[in-house]
Amino acid sequence: MLPKIEDYDELYREFRWRIPERFNIGVAVSDAWAARDPERICLQHFSPDGAHLALTYRDFAARSSAFAGGLAAHDVGSGERVAILLPQGFEAAIAHAAIYKLGAIALPLALLFGVEALAYRLKDAGAAAVVTNRFGYERLAAIRGELPELRLVVLAEEDEKPGTVRFRDLAAGQGRFDPAETKPDDPALMIYTSGTTGPPKGALHGHRVLLGHLPGFQFHHHFLPQPGDRMWTPADWAWAGGLLNALLPSLFFGVPVVSSPAQKFDAHMAFRIIEEMEVRNAFIPPTALRLLKSVERPRDRYALKLRTVGSAGEALGRETFEWARAALGVEVSEFYGQTECNIVISSATDLGVAKAGSMGKAAPGHQVAIIDGEGRVLPPGTVGQVAIRRPDPVMFLGYWRNEEATEAKFIGDWMTTGDQGVMDEEGYFTFFGRDDDVITSSGYRIGPSEIEDCLAGHPDVQLAAAVGKPDPLRTEIVKAYVVLKPGVAAGDETAAGIRDWVKNRLSMHEYPREIAFVDSLPLTTSGKVIRRLLREKAAAEARAASGG
Ligand code: ATP
Ligand code: MG
Repeated sequence: MLPKIEDYDELYREFRWRIPERFNIGVAVSDAWAARDPERICLQHFSPDGAHLALTYRDFAARSSAFAGGLAAHDVGSGERVAILLPQGFEAAIAHAAIYKLGAIALPLALLFGVEALAYRLKDAGAAAVVTNRFGYERLAAIRGELPELRLVVLAEEDEKPGTVRFRDLAAGQGRFDPAETKPDDPALMIYTSGTTGPPKGALHGHRVLLGHLPGFQFHHHFLPQPGDRMWTPADWAWAGGLLNALLPSLFFGVPVVSSPAQKFDAHMAFRIIEEMEVRNAFIPPTALRLLKSVERPRDRYALKLRTVGSAGEALGRETFEWARAALGVEVSEFYGQTECNIVISSATDLGVAKAGSMGKAAPGHQVAIIDGEGRVLPPGTVGQVAIRRPDPVMFLGYWRNEEATEAKFIGDWMTTGDQGVMDEEGYFTFFGRDDDVITSSGYRIGPSEIEDCLAGHPDVQLAAAVGKPDPLRTEIVKAYVVLKPGVAAGDETAAGIRDWVKNRLSMHEYPREIAFVDSLPLTTSGKVIRRLLREKAAAEARAASGG
């Protein structure tokens, strides 16, 4: 997909999309390789006891075809939503490929979701079927009465449960299935946004979405596939990050993907996986990278063979980038995207496309700009809305059953992102903050990321978030919520030290006038800080203080 040109400007100029008339994600990630190289390994499952299992493309293709046939036999048809509520593993990948081959719409859901989150998404999507395990089954049992459209529950377990059919029975059989002859724009996949700024929205994607990811993916993984490449991500495959920044594009390129059991993120376990499975390529979101820091000098303890690491979903920050360079021995390529339109800005450290604090440049194939409220492109150095120009194969088809929200997302041919950013003369984009997170203080507009990055560099700070707190004099003041490292005492002295740290490094108007020490920050299931909740907390404090 991506021509092997090492010079960014030439690469960007030379890249051309080649979108075929028919394209089916399921066929592209399984049958295509099964025909070419059936014994090739597509998935390897890490097991903590050392009994790792492998799946070949031949078996992947056969089982996903059988499963597609099984779904069809249960009257699940083209265009219907089939939820996948499974941890990383063979079953989840097989279910994905099967649903695409059937021409149905895959709806990945995170196992971390509680019953309310599940009910909201299943109801909103009108899911006809759910593929899950016993943990999902238990949660589903509590809400099944609220889901009249749900007709089929497939259980990936040995034992049978009432009202379900077994995954194994559905994926058995001949494995012959005529895949739906889908067009690139036919719906394939629906992923709910993370719900950081409000209720999550269903972003509907066509089969083309996988093709749309390929150039940006190959760009930051330095022309993957290379011999010996092997991909792993600690991110849930139910999230756009895990599915589209790791699983599907790797399978497309014939690069084996390591799956690992769902559990609370554990830094030592993560290093064990990278070592034992000889992981060479990884997608590790900033939150997970920051958690890895708890292991000191990991390269003295684990044999790491990482070639490329990509990171996105939140601002990476210089501190974490520098830590990774020293501790992991790789320069992390930060990139940027959203569920609606992913990997559109990217660094490529191996190509020298990287700048401290920046997310990178427009990824090959994508037109990205900073625009104003009227859709006019702003000159370098001006803060404005990050926007992507349509048509773009990676762009969503629209929000699920929400014409209005879809329309509101566009100004002419520019898709707005809800994010503020700035581009420099060289074409590097820097993230400033989400629209709602930008702080207005004494006439200045302040992005929280820079303050948070600075706070993260303080030796006592583990995690930090900055929000605007309403203030009668200054409109807002910067308030920081800080989680201290274990063993550090909270108190006025510590707060003063942290305040001075920021004052000495950033502009005077950016330092947090108030600091609150907290045990944890509110995070989405994908590990993003929900500043909205902190802002509400700060606003309530301000109201209480003014007696209103
Ligand atoms: P919702 O849209 O429901 O509020 P969300 O925007 O968090 O949730 P996602 O689509 O998962 O849902 O996240 C995309 C957002 O993540 C981007 O719009 C941006 O705000 C943030 N993001 C992604 N990559 C980066 C990055 N490299 N630096 C800073 N922020 C990033
Ligand atoms: Mg969003």
